[in-house]
Amino acid sequence: MDTYEVDVCVVGGGPGGMTLALLLARSGIRVAVVERSRTFERDYRGEILQPGAMTLLDELGILGPARARGGYPLGRFQLIEHGRVLMNIDYAQLPKPFDFLLSIPQRHILEELLAACEKEATFTYLPGRSVSTLLTEGKRVTGVTAGSGENQVTVRASWVVAADGRYSKVRRLAGIEFDRMDVFEHDVLWFKIRQPGRSSHDVRVVRANGNPVLIFDSYPERVQIGWTLPHGRYREIAQQGFDAVKRQILPAVPEYADAIEEQITGIGDLSLLDVFGGYAREWVRDGLVLIGDCAHTHAPIGAQGINLAIQDAVIVHPMLVRAVRAGLTSASALEEYPRVRRPDIDRVMTLQIRQAKAMLSSSGRLGTAIRPVVAKLLAYTPLYAKILQQIAYGRPVRVATEYFQ
Ligand SMILES: Cc1cc2nc3c(=O)[nH]c(=O)nc-3n(C[C@H](O)[C@H](O)[C@H](O)COP(=O)(O)OP(=O)(O)OC[C@H]3O[C@@H](n4cnc5c(N)ncnc54)[C@H](O)[C@@H]3O)c2cc1C
Repeated sequence: MDTYEVDVCVVGGGPGGMTLALLLARSGIRVAVVERSRTFERDYRGEILQPGAMTLLDELGILGPARARGGYPLGRFQLIEHGRVLMNIDYAQLPKPFDFLLSIPQRHILEELLAACEKEATFTYLPGRSVSTLLTEGKRVTGVTAGSGENQVTVRASWVVAADGRYSKVRRLAGIEFDRMDVFEHDVLWFKIRQPGRSSHDVRVVRANGNPVLIFDSYPERVQIGWTLPHGRYREIAQQGFDAVKRQILPAVPEYADAIEEQITGIGDLSLLDVFGGYAREWVRDGLVLIGDCAHTHAPIGAQGINLAIQDAVIVHPMLVRAVRAGLTSASALEEYPRVRRPDIDRVMTLQIRQAKAMLSSSGRLGTAIRPVVAKLLAYTPLYAKILQQIAYGRPVRVATEYFQ
């Protein structure tokens, strides 16, 4: 079994983990990333970047090359009911250069992050290895073991960063409770259809016949469609068989009905997203820090997950560098992170719950009758500009380049 000795072991090579690894490696910190997958192929993951994430990736020199691999700018986030545009969040109102959303395969971002990391002498990448054990000394986390057979590795580190996503294994191994919040009414059944020539330049929530659907262009030459269904009811719906599921989807997206008939031919073409929010009860322990989806999980509405994971990395970076340089491994060295970050995350969670209610819900106060009125009025209030700013950027965050070597 190979053994690595590093300052920081990042578990999970998603947007949060890879961004943090790059920041640390550029700061001269010895960092290893342990990643379960062998490739960065990730269908049905976050594909939409907000201006906040774009700004940070641009500062790191990642955005340009990632975009050169392919991606689509999207101008507006719209709610359309029976053909009428009820809400039109227009990103063109934001300052340039990031006055749009970017639909881009995660692979394009992750491969560029990895390429940049690999230019740093202090970086080690350990793909194709799933973390199975946390090493501890007393209460302090001191490393991980990952992989199996000839592929097995031990990584010893001053700090382990859990960036292994919404179902985090590290969180479970550490015994940190996760408070799951089933506050969203819908799950999402995703699928993609080939659509040469782009169909629209917006992200749309379309309410017509049947359940609301989310629709956006997905690179290359695809349209990604998310059919919403009552939370927790997929099994029941799927038991009626694939044709029954398809019969329910078709009326909701008549403009794509022919393409769906032709291209979506089995249950394997559909991918269910169990939509929930939630928080890990602790984000920092001695030798351990949780970031991204592992610390706080979000619904897809408003496309916030990647933004937040990358921001977490940028916020934790200077704190971790200071701790490593000072030889500190106790939780108190990073106590500032949950203190400054939790209020940001609470704000996003609240906004997403409101967005989901306003755009997707079929009942309640923002039901069918008053939704058009509220949506129209909102567009003329100062609150609208504030909401756009919050969705696009959240709290302004900057890269601590002064820590780079
Ligand atoms: C269907 C879907 C659509 C979404 N749409 C959007 C969107 O449009 N925009 C947006 O911003 N967000 C979206 N999200 C959320 C977004 O994908 C996540 O918030 C974001 O990827 C979180 O980044 P992360 O780095 O924290 O975790 P992840 O991206 O989940 O990365 C975790 C990494 O850890 C690895 N891993 C897991 N377990 C182990 C282990 N035991 N050992 C080693 N490695 C491990 C995984 O392979 C993965 O690479 C969507 C999510 C889903 C599921």
